[in-house]
Amino acid sequence: EQRPIVLNVNGIEVIYNHVILVLKGVSLQVPQGGIAALLGGNGAGKTTTLRAVSNLLKGERGEVTKGSIELRGERIENLTPADLVQRGVVQVMEGRHCFAHLTIEENLLTGSYTRSSRSEVAANLEKVYAYFPRLKQRRTSQAAYTSGGEQQMCAIGRALMASPSLVLLDEPSMGLAPQIVEEVFEIVKDLNAKEKVTFLLAEQNTNMALKYADYGYILESGRIVMDGPASELANNEDVKEFYLGVG
Ligand code: ATP
Repeated sequence: EQRPIVLNVNGIEVIYNHVILVLKGVSLQVPQGGIAALLGGNGAGKTTTLRAVSNLLKGERGEVTKGSIELRGERIENLTPADLVQRGVVQVMEGRHCFAHLTIEENLLTGSYTRSSRSEVAANLEKVYAYFPRLKQRRTSQAAYTSGGEQQMCAIGRALMASPSLVLLDEPSMGLAPQIVEEVFEIVKDLNAKEKVTFLLAEQNTNMALKYADYGYILESGRIVMDGPASELANNEDVKEFYLGVG
C-alpha cells in the first residue's frame, strides 16, 4: 500500500551569507508514519536540510534559493517556524538545547506554547512521562544537573508537548553512550508506532540510525548520493565501507 507523503523536499539549494552554497539540490520524501534517516559525515549538510524544512535558516544567515518544500502537498517555505509548529512540524535541535536553569518539567512545558487547551497540555505531559519514565523521576531537577541522555529525552519530550505529526530530530546520539542512544531510539520507535509520529532523523551514527529507520538518504557535500530502504543500505558494500566503519 502507498502511504501519503508528509514531507516532500524537492531540489533545494541553500546558501549561507549570500555566497556559501551548502545544499546543491537536495530532494527527499518522508511518508506518513515513516522514520527517514538523513545520514552523512560532519558538514555534509544534514542540519542545514532540517533547518530549511523548519525555516530556521534566517537566524544563521542562510536561505533556500532553489527548489521547494511541501508539507502534505502544501508549500511551506514561507511559513514561520511558529506557523510550522502550529501545523505539527517540530525540530529537536542538535546539542539538545534545554534551558539549563529550568527544571525538566518547566522545560517540557515550554514546548506547549502553541497549545491553548490546558487539558491537552496535561495529557501531553502525562504521555511524555509515560514514554520517558526517567523524566518523571527527574521532573523537579534543574536541567543543568541532569545527564546528557536525560537532556536529550527532555528535548524530545519538549517537542512532543506541541502534539507534533512530524519531528525533525537532529543527531539524537551526539555525545551519548551507546546504551543510552539505544534507549532513546527505542522510544523514538515506540512514538512512531503508537503515536503515529513521523520522523526525519539526521545522524552521523549510521549503524544505529539504519537499525531504527525504515528508509535512508546519504548526504555528501550537499548532495544526496544514495538512498534506499534502511535494510538495503545497511547491507550495501559502499555504505559498509564508508559509513559503518567495516571493511
Ligand atoms: P554536523 O554534523 O557538523 O552538524 P551537518 O551535516 O549537519 O554536520 P551542516 O551543519 O548542515 O552539516 O553544515 C553544512 C556546511 O554548511 C558546513 O560546511 C558548514 O560549515 C556550513 N555552515 C553551516 N552553518 C553555516 C552558517 N551559519 N554560515 C556559514 N556556513 C555554515
